[in-house]
Amino acid sequence: MRDSVVIIGAGPGGLASAILLASAGLKVSVIERCGVVGGRTSAIESEGFKFDLGPTFFLFPRVLEEIFSAAGESLRREVELVRLDPQYRIIFGGGGALDATSDISRMERQIAAIAGGDAAGFRRFLDENRVKLQRMEPCLENPFLGWRDLINMRLLRMLPLLRPHQSVDTYLKRFFRDPRIRLAFSFQSKYLGMSPFRCPSLFSILSFIEYEFGVFHPVGGCSAVTAAMGRVAQRLGVEIRVDEPVEEILFQGRRAVGVRTAAGVQMASAIVMNADFARAMSRLVPDRLRRRWTDRKIARKKFSCSTFMMYLGVEGRFDLPHHNIHISADYARNLDEIENRHVLSDDPSFYVQNAGVTDPTLAPRGMSTLYVLAPVTHQHPNVDWSRERERFRALMLRQIAKAGFTDVERRIRFERLITPVDWDRQYEIHRGATFNLSHTLDQMLHLRPRNRFEDLDGIYLVGGGTHPGSGLPVIFESARISTRLLLADLGLAPATCPAEQHIPMKLEVA
Ligand SMILES: Cc1cc2nc3c(=O)[nH]c(=O)nc-3n(C[C@H](O)[C@H](O)[C@H](O)COP(=O)(O)OP(=O)(O)OC[C@H]3O[C@@H](n4cnc5c(N)ncnc54)[C@H](O)[C@@H]3O)c2cc1C
Repeated sequence: MRDSVVIIGAGPGGLASAILLASAGLKVSVIERCGVVGGRTSAIESEGFKFDLGPTFFLFPRVLEEIFSAAGESLRREVELVRLDPQYRIIFGGGGALDATSDISRMERQIAAIAGGDAAGFRRFLDENRVKLQRMEPCLENPFLGWRDLINMRLLRMLPLLRPHQSVDTYLKRFFRDPRIRLAFSFQSKYLGMSPFRCPSLFSILSFIEYEFGVFHPVGGCSAVTAAMGRVAQRLGVEIRVDEPVEEILFQGRRAVGVRTAAGVQMASAIVMNADFARAMSRLVPDRLRRRWTDRKIARKKFSCSTFMMYLGVEGRFDLPHHNIHISADYARNLDEIENRHVLSDDPSFYVQNAGVTDPTLAPRGMSTLYVLAPVTHQHPNVDWSRERERFRALMLRQIAKAGFTDVERRIRFERLITPVDWDRQYEIHRGATFNLSHTLDQMLHLRPRNRFEDLDGIYLVGGGTHPGSGLPVIFESARISTRLLLADLGLAPATCPAEQHIPMKLEVA
């Protein structure tokens, strides 16, 4: 009899795990509470408009390409990836704008136009972070199951480069004096739901990765990637059951042995949990069985920010870039309002995706899909969204005009809003914290919920709630790490990517 695995949740982490485990010969069932696969990386589709629900930046495809080739498949055959140039426009509320590009001289010219002395810092930043990423690779590709792994990983050797107690912003002062230029290379910490003034400096690699490896748009949106993962998993024999919430994980002693849904009980040799960590623990695992991650301890953890979302199908086209990021004039205050004071800002930073300039498949002819995201506090008693929803919508329609999206309201033909309350209640995300537990040093590496879940036997975590963290490439990496551990525990070997198909990192370290 083949060993069988149940995966709870068909988000990117769950689907990547399904592909890896099925390729290694296991019998795999994915059980998903929603009607479609993809989780936060699924789509909203209506009246000919198609929006990504969550991710719109597809970075560092290498990890997923390797997962596909380990299964004898090809990501590029399934999904067309378009490298964007400019990667995005960043507009500083305090004055100035940059069209971020990996064309070094074009980028230097634009930096010089804002802050003459900072242009030379761009090349130095790229050179230093190229080395930093290479040194960090083992850290991103391996589990952290305890202190011993920290030493094994030769983290100590990396410390001079990682500067663990510096923030990204402080670190960037080595290269750029103008705070706006530093923001252009640090706002990416918002991908983790964090402020660049608090986010550990090792995450300077996020902006480096964009310049070095590119920002991609998958044709059809990022949901086209998860849809392709679902297809590949099914070709490998994975059973995917949608519209079937897991109601309970079943235990014998401390060992997970199966799950219960409305359709019945399914026993398994191991369980992979992709559902939002904090929510799933409190819903699916009795508190008395947990030691390190009891409900009381989870309540004391720090959680990422949330997002206010507007998905607008609009008549007409916008001659503006694909990705547009607007940074509030007083960004420090905007971040303080999100992270510490837990109130709504009068001048929120925001992001607008105008994907129609790259991808005609997302809207009817002559129309546009606008995806508007404003980072806001996760659910907190200070903000009553039933009262704030409409006011904040009106504010956001005024805000997006600052990035050139003018005269929008009159032309809206389709509209959907998502607030932190909706993320919590409809999408089952604890406190609506869309990027999971914060990525502070005291909640990372072995201090994050571990890939081989430390409180129980037979449970493996994948997705943004475990190591290495939130964001698609590292979520795919979490699937590689956790499935390797699971297979080793069952005495099996993982399927590997054939050597000739290994995608080079293109790292040339002096
Ligand atoms: C607004 C937003 C923008 C983002 N932008 C980017 C970006 O541009 N680039 C990037 O790389 N990342 C981005 N991310 C972060 C991250 O990549 C995505 O959130 C990603 O989808 C998280 O994947 P996951 O595997 O952790 O879990 P999820 O996508 O949350 O999937 C978990 C799945 O588990 C299911 N589930 C939950 N409970 C149960 C249950 N009881 N039974 C069965 N199934 C259950 C859920 O329905 C869901 O399908 C963004 C996230 C958000 C929210």
